[in-house]
Amino acid sequence: MKASLFHQHGGPEVLQYEDFPEPSITDNDVLVKVKYCSINHLDLWIRGGLRTVDMKLPHICGCDISGTVADKGKLVEDLENDSEVIVSPGVSCGKCNYCLIGMDNFCRKYSIIGGYDRHGGYAEYVSAPKENIILKPHNVTFQDAAAFPLTFLTAWQMLVTKAKIKTGDSVLVIGGGSGVGSAAIQIAKLFNATIISTAGTEQKLTKLKELGVDHVVDHSQEDYSEYVRNLTQRNGVDIVFDHVGKATWDRSLKSLTFGGRYVTCGATSGAESNIDIRMLYRRQLSVMGSFMGSKGELLEIMKFVENGSLKPIISDIFKLSDANVAHQRIENSEHFGKVLLEIS
Ligand code: ZN
Repeated sequence: MKASLFHQHGGPEVLQYEDFPEPSITDNDVLVKVKYCSINHLDLWIRGGLRTVDMKLPHICGCDISGTVADKGKLVEDLENDSEVIVSPGVSCGKCNYCLIGMDNFCRKYSIIGGYDRHGGYAEYVSAPKENIILKPHNVTFQDAAAFPLTFLTAWQMLVTKAKIKTGDSVLVIGGGSGVGSAAIQIAKLFNATIISTAGTEQKLTKLKELGVDHVVDHSQEDYSEYVRNLTQRNGVDIVFDHVGKATWDRSLKSLTFGGRYVTCGATSGAESNIDIRMLYRRQLSVMGSFMGSKGELLEIMKFVENGSLKPIISDIFKLSDANVAHQRIENSEHFGKVLLEIS
């Protein structure tokens, strides 16, 4: 089969389009013929080699996959070959306490398809455990089906499960033009939240407004914490949704009101930070970290994708052979929403 893979860590140019053996499946797996696979920051980190330990190369990235069943394996009764499916990105043991209470993304053996230890969807075929195969609703396109799982799952656990967003809350979404940011905006809108969001270009600010953001601020021109405090009569917002890390940490915490909740899922600009503990207790702030989400949450999100109230924003679609160009586009922050690879 054809795949876009890398033999060594490095910049986007290390992604090569070449022949690779089709994955074999065990009795517990399903072989999926990939139609679309979307790109996540996770893919860029893996390709870049932040964690090179124990990683087998060459590697095929890609955890957001839609396609059809090519071989349903031996134990799967409710699937047919050619069934249209979505691949749930997280793989867990299914036996530990966390798995049994439905918090599979807390499992010690949790891994991600296309992550550090298993091949993903930048290829014509991918194998996945049968528990990860979800039938695609007919009214959801293959493109949308590959664009929503990881970002909406991440944003849902952050806003709904962790920050416990309530109707009418005010939410500041840092970097609203990213895949996870645009997902957060849509989820916050389900709760009639007042949304403030940041972006770095005029064009992205306009798109944020089109997406229904109430107030936009150019983070390259203005201190958004000042903007937020001016906008809210020096009070601040209820929730800050962040994924940038070191570069935004101080301003994000300063943007919170008393009892505010800060939740983050990333540190693309760096991982070290300081915090004024007095501010933490005087303002009674909550600071939360979040990683992925549970399978149950993904099924909850599916209902909103199916009825059209959540719809992933698709920025660009590239051919599988142009995965390097697609990665470069994300590294340059030229995208708004999700970047997809079209595979078959
Ligand atoms: Zn487990």
